[in-house]
Amino acid sequence: MTQPRTLGDFDAVVVGAGFAGLYALHRLRTMGLSVRVFEAGSGIGGTWFWNRYPGARCDIESLEYSYQFSDELQQEWGWSERYATQPEILRYLEHIAHRFDLRRDIELSTRVLSAHFDEATARWTVATDRGSCTASFCVMAAGCLSSTNTPRIPGLDRFAGPTYHTGRWPHEGVDFTGQRVAVIGTGSSAIQSIPLIAEEAARLTVFQRTPNYSIPAHNQPLDPEVVKRVKAGYAGFRRENAQRPFGASFPQNELSALQVDEAERAREYEERWQRGGLGFFTSFSDLIVDRDANRTAADFVRGKIREIVRDAAVAEKLSPKQVIGCKRLCVDTGYYETFNRPNVTLVDVNEDPIEEILPHGLRTKQAVHEVDCIVFATGFDAMTGSLLAMDIRGKGGRSLREKWAEGPRTYLGLGTAGFPNLFLITGPGSPSVLSNMVPSIEQHVDWIAGCIAHLRSRGLRSVEATRAAEEAWVAHVNEVADGTLFPTCNSWYLGANVPGKPRVFMPYLGFPPYVEKCNEVAAKDYEGFALS
Ligand code: FAD
Ligand code: NAP
Repeated sequence: MTQPRTLGDFDAVVVGAGFAGLYALHRLRTMGLSVRVFEAGSGIGGTWFWNRYPGARCDIESLEYSYQFSDELQQEWGWSERYATQPEILRYLEHIAHRFDLRRDIELSTRVLSAHFDEATARWTVATDRGSCTASFCVMAAGCLSSTNTPRIPGLDRFAGPTYHTGRWPHEGVDFTGQRVAVIGTGSSAIQSIPLIAEEAARLTVFQRTPNYSIPAHNQPLDPEVVKRVKAGYAGFRRENAQRPFGASFPQNELSALQVDEAERAREYEERWQRGGLGFFTSFSDLIVDRDANRTAADFVRGKIREIVRDAAVAEKLSPKQVIGCKRLCVDTGYYETFNRPNVTLVDVNEDPIEEILPHGLRTKQAVHEVDCIVFATGFDAMTGSLLAMDIRGKGGRSLREKWAEGPRTYLGLGTAGFPNLFLITGPGSPSVLSNMVPSIEQHVDWIAGCIAHLRSRGLRSVEATRAAEEAWVAHVNEVADGTLFPTCNSWYLGANVPGKPRVFMPYLGFPPYVEKCNEVAAKDYEGFALS
């Protein structure tokens, strides 16, 4: 029997080489720690390595969806469009790896299988499919949206043509010319890719379970004058955005939607619709807390769908019924317009469920749809999927899977009781997916770095969230969520997209108060954490 290869002993192991893992490596290494990053993919970039489907791009503006830890970096890098494409974001991350000499500490094509904590030595043993190593600290940068979700539809294994998942797109691209294509799903990935697939395919059939609200991107080349202005005061621009609820520059209207008359409301929504993007959601202060306020925004978008889509029956099917913003708002370029094309058909799987996949098509209750290939735009086992895919064991050999059987429990989304020296970047219970994620990632990495520096300066070797602090935080996260309309629909924020997953609202709403709380905890000698 071959012995597992020993990969060494480190101060810190980082799992994942996306935005989070790359910055964690840079930050911790700058403090003098020995760090090893393990990445399952054959390249760096995380989300932007895997999601290469047509139309993939960010929907937070590029000037904000980027690192701020180095002013030289943010001054020298030039984004070309308001919303950068996947290839451009990947080029940016490759530039970072090169500029900060990160590659020498990254092991690509290496999947972490387990991480076990040894109480006697206060070290983690991390096993990968290429050998194992030990480390004082284990930093999980495994991604909130990196574990793909493919529904188990009967007959899938008998399908004769190729199948694709948007989150595992082939590097060589896919030529849909002349193909009959099925897309399953109508979330952000589908909404970005459908217009482009429809242009190429002979026939496109979209299988929709829940229609989504989508706001036009109005993407465009970045105006050099705007870039110049932002760069002249980049730090101030970042500080201002950090004060906003989502950590992004969406202009917040402090008025209630119900405080103004119909004409004023329509003006505000129209202006935001014309400006494009996620800023639509901050049109008024109470869209996510008051059903009546929310309905005014939902009605506006439904009205737009009716204006854009010529076939009234199709427009009706495309019109969401749930609260707007309850599922992640989408941003598109020509999504609703695509359903005016003669080669595009919409199937509502609530009316006409998919019963099985045949070798050359999909059979729904009412018809057989012959297709040459299937695109699964069916999303992710979000926030916990990648963490729980590993066998993580803390004190007493207790597994994280067991601890989180009823849903994730963390303190600040940064640590979890019973698992000393295990840090989560954008873990459940932190703003993460309800914020501009790059600043959230940087805030977490900086906090973790500060915590490790604190331990070292006092000759301590271990930090662990206390159960009491964790319980209080979990209760607080739920209380905040329960004060909003977020828990009212079947979203992936709640785990509702994955059969059998416990329903717990996972992210924390409110970037500024969250950052304040983290700073306060650190200032009070890491209150709520036991240090030893
Ligand atoms: P990831 O980029 O997901 O990286 C995690 C890495 O960990 C992956 O490469 C994965 O392979 C690796 N990994 C996981 N498990 C293991 C293991 N066991 N062993 C080894 N490696 C492992 N957010 C925004 O704020 N704005 C946007 O506009 C935006 N657009 C998005 C568009 C798409 C298509 C998607 C899917 C997400 C988008 N997001 C956006 C969210 C996005 O995931 C984050 O912004 C950010 O890229 C996450 O970085 P990360 O490093 O935390 O995780
Ligand atoms: P998603 O939002 O979870 O959408 C998945 C879609 O698949 C949903 O429409 C879902 O329907 C459908 N689906 C899942 N299982 C199904 C089944 N068994 N049968 C039929 N339909 C099924 O996933 P995503 O589009 O990949 O996006 C995930 C997140 O990544 C986004 O919310 C966003 O945060 C991020 N993202 C951002 C961008 C961007 O614009 N920058 C682009 C892509 C992704 P239900 O709604 O009914 O579950």
